[in-house]
Amino acid sequence: NEVRGDEILKWAKVLNLPADQLALRNVDVTFLLEPNHLNVADRYFRAVFNSLKYFGLWYGQYPYDTMTIVDVPRHSATCCMEYPTFITVGTYFWPAEYGLSPEGVTVHEFGHQFWYGLVGNNEFEEAWLDEGFNTYSDGKVIDEAYPFHCGYNYFFGMPVPAYSWLSVDPPSFPFAGVGGVPVGSLFSCVQFPMRTAGRDFYLNNVKDDDLVRNGWQYLNGASYGLNSYTRVGLTLRTLESYLGEDVMARVMRTFHQRWRYRHPDTRDFIAVVNEVSGRDMSWFFQQFFYGSNMVDYTVSDISSTPLEGKVGLYDEGGKKVLYAEKSAEEAFNKSKDKRYRSTVTVRRLGEAIAPVDVAVQFQNGETVREQWDGQYRWIKYVYDKSSEVKSAEVDPEHKLTLDSNFTNNSYATREDNRGAAKWYVRWVFWLENLFFAASFFS
Ligand SMILES: [Zn+2]
Repeated sequence: NEVRGDEILKWAKVLNLPADQLALRNVDVTFLLEPNHLNVADRYFRAVFNSLKYFGLWYGQYPYDTMTIVDVPRHSATCCMEYPTFITVGTYFWPAEYGLSPEGVTVHEFGHQFWYGLVGNNEFEEAWLDEGFNTYSDGKVIDEAYPFHCGYNYFFGMPVPAYSWLSVDPPSFPFAGVGGVPVGSLFSCVQFPMRTAGRDFYLNNVKDDDLVRNGWQYLNGASYGLNSYTRVGLTLRTLESYLGEDVMARVMRTFHQRWRYRHPDTRDFIAVVNEVSGRDMSWFFQQFFYGSNMVDYTVSDISSTPLEGKVGLYDEGGKKVLYAEKSAEEAFNKSKDKRYRSTVTVRRLGEAIAPVDVAVQFQNGETVREQWDGQYRWIKYVYDKSSEVKSAEVDPEHKLTLDSNFTNNSYATREDNRGAAKWYVRWVFWLENLFFAASFFS
């Protein structure tokens, strides 16, 4: 009774499949809980039910009758791990109400039933195919099942991390916001999008390695972690932006169904992407899976100048005629249909190459959308219009989750006062990513 009929219809439509192919089965879920974690039992169960539901709807039903989850003691080396029909997970005595413990680790370890268990890649050679797919998929489950989740609580206006692995023992850890205890307005949380989770960790280390490497051939443990988990999540989200969410959902399902109980490798995934999308996405894999270049596009300048007509000395019908600058300016000011030449300069600052959209807005509200292949170092768009350019933005939807600097994507004629806000956002993201990087699990 976990899945409503309208949910099945919704995903059947997205996946372009008859609804009966999305039917799920009943599964006996057994939890073995630490005695002092009984207060978390409900959250644990919800996390497994949500995982069974979304992984099942998206990739095909979980094919076994049982699922057993062991909640292991804190600091136990047995946490957290996946085995067929059996996983180990862990949580804290007093988890934050809107934090993602125990949900994050539970959804992740469950996800390995699908990525590693049912679709069995070679983890030593291509860890990204299980850990990375799972990072992408568990993020999608969190998006659906826990759209409201927090990275932080606030204390007197300062963000306080909700991650309870800070190991502060209760009751001296009052920031968690336990359900039912009124903590008032002192505490609030910052929601962080799963789509960009771990961006700073990625940006600080992308140049260490290509994404696709044998597990033992990464520069170090951090690079192994980045390229097996975080970077894959970000990169598959970027692929999703280029293909569209529905097409990406069909790609993932087709790949899973085709390779269930079998052993795919990276090339098999690329083949499914190209086949299902009907596009040749080889460039994407070349840039972002078999490379280690940064991507960064920017609008470096916009400008408009009046189209005033002639200025200078002209030879007209054998006579020399002088058009003064001042009279041209006066004529322009008097004219009723003024025209302007506007120029928008977009530059590629990074080494990675990807096609990008450019959205240009004019003072009269008119908008123009350009598509640039992003190949050369720059491109200029020139417009002769009755209105001046107001602003321009490259990759306005932030499809390139991997872009190293979103703050330089847009350019407006009037500087607005967002410098401080940008600084603050950057600081919060830095904190968030620091904690994200430290919270790896298997
Ligand atoms: Zn894992």
